Amino acid sequence: MKNYRYLRIIISLISFAALTFAFVDISGWGIRHCSWLAQWQFMPALLSLNLLALAAILLITYLGGRHYCSWLCPLGIYQDCIAKLSHRSPKQPYSPSPEHRKLRRIVLIVFTALCACGFLNIAALIEPYGLYGRMASGLFAPIYHMGNNWLAQWAASQDSYAFSSVPLRPHSAALLAVALLSWAGITLAAWKKGRLYCNAVCPIGTLLGLISSHSLCQVRLNEEKCVSCKMCERVCKSECIDINSKTIDSSRCVVCGRCWQTCKTEGIRYGR
Ligand code: SF4
Ligand code: SF4
Ligand code: SF4
Repeated sequence: MKNYRYLRIIISLISFAALTFAFVDISGWGIRHCSWLAQWQFMPALLSLNLLALAAILLITYLGGRHYCSWLCPLGIYQDCIAKLSHRSPKQPYSPSPEHRKLRRIVLIVFTALCACGFLNIAALIEPYGLYGRMASGLFAPIYHMGNNWLAQWAASQDSYAFSSVPLRPHSAALLAVALLSWAGITLAAWKKGRLYCNAVCPIGTLLGLISSHSLCQVRLNEEKCVSCKMCERVCKSECIDINSKTIDSSRCVVCGRCWQTCKTEGIRYGR
């Protein structure tokens, strides 16, 4: 388990970069080579009835917790990047927060009802893959294209034609406004409270949380070894460890590995 966290960070960043590239690239390379990752995202898998991907995500969650949220979901990884940038450290710690259980359940019920009644466009406003897709194609893509065009101009001035300009495609004002609002809300929440969106709003996170509460392998406290230093509590971006009450809320834990790699006494571990 020693290198678990580093392996997770590397793989999650690769999958995040590949999926983002598929959203912003207009050469076609990104779609051809990276978009297969979308088939392993929960919502696209559900909509396309990709039963293999769905079964794999649910089974892995039952066996070991919300690994999907840590390794594959682009919106979750984006929040991790923002939380990291906000310089969280033992001096700026996270602190245990109560579960927003009622809110989570209501959002999940409303989301399920919207999907069942065919209002997918409205459901997509809070669904993580759609949310990230709108942010990436509405906001990140124009920035990427402008950067590309600037590079192409500069290369041409140096007699190199390694880059070619691409036409900028303006989005509708409505799409831009939704993308901007989503981005601002998620980024601010991640900056201040880590994975707040994941653990208070995201319907997929709530669904997986219902399973991960009963998963076979979980993050567990060893009260005999724990010296109540609270270091694990301070680094938990899901704010789901409470050392005072000696509890860990497995429905919110995304198995990031920070707690058990921080603990110096093996008072917290991941396993059965
Ligand atoms: S809780 Fe939702 S947004 Fe967060 S990582 Fe999981 S699926 Fe993605
Ligand atoms: S870091 Fe280890 S010793 Fe400190 S409170 Fe957490 S489990 Fe206990
Ligand atoms: S309990 Fe540990 S593994 Fe789970 S989210 Fe918090 S820090 Fe990460």
